Amino acid sequence: MVEAADFKARKAVDWCKGCGNYGILAALRGALMDLGLGPDGAVVVSGIGCSAKMPHFVNVNGFHAIHGRALPVATGIRLANHSLPVIAVTGDGDGLGIGGAHFVHTARRNVDIAHILHNNAVYGLTTGQVAPTAARGFKTKTTPRGSPEEPINPTALALVCGATFVARAFVGDMAHTREMFRRAIEHRGYALVDTLQPCVTFNRVNTYEWYQHRVYRLDKEGHDPSSYERALLRAHEWGDRIPVGVIYQTTRPTLEDQLIGLQRGPLAARDITKVDISSALREFE
Ligand code: SF4
Repeated sequence: MVEAADFKARKAVDWCKGCGNYGILAALRGALMDLGLGPDGAVVVSGIGCSAKMPHFVNVNGFHAIHGRALPVATGIRLANHSLPVIAVTGDGDGLGIGGAHFVHTARRNVDIAHILHNNAVYGLTTGQVAPTAARGFKTKTTPRGSPEEPINPTALALVCGATFVARAFVGDMAHTREMFRRAIEHRGYALVDTLQPCVTFNRVNTYEWYQHRVYRLDKEGHDPSSYERALLRAHEWGDRIPVGVIYQTTRPTLEDQLIGLQRGPLAARDITKVDISSALREFE
């Protein structure tokens, strides 16, 4: 049986006191426990940013990639071993700015990856620059008069790109966030959890209190996540009311399902000692 202590990493957690990332870490450990996935049972892949420290803070297989590249690395791992659950962790700058094109293509390819997006609307690690999900008018050291840009809406973008599971969570509701992570890992296909995570140091607008007054649960309002049209309406709801929960879920073949080379089982489990690659190597001579 998997226990909480199994996921305790040796490295001390060094996020700012009160950061919403602590809630994501606890919810992720809880979701892995709920699924009975031990330290060898999944892999967590990150890019660069405060969120990217996640593989150091949870004792599972991990890969700390470069800025914006968590999703392509996660895709490569998944194609090499499609029996292993893959969890990609990105910030909003990392995942939607530097890695924005990867977000689009991972969703449309429907790679079987659970993507936890730490959404705090600011670049935290680099000390407070405007990020792609920041609201118009948001003041930072790079936008002292307020951001002149429209923010990216991660859930709406995922929907139009073909994501088969789109959810939102708020770390102020730990049990619900844990449930959203579990369902994203269980889902077959690309699964986004847009996770609202206050940055207590550099975002004094989108605080715990700000969210607590606005967030409401979709499952308590009879939302039907099988309807794409209703999902789009909910995804665009932002302001006085912010929905959390499963916005959309559907099924279609994953990228892995469609690749002939993967039909005989995971590549990582194959005996390649007798495979002759000399003709391929000659092409590089
Ligand atoms: Fe968290 Fe913000 Fe501190 Fe980063 S800078 S650890 S996101 S509070």
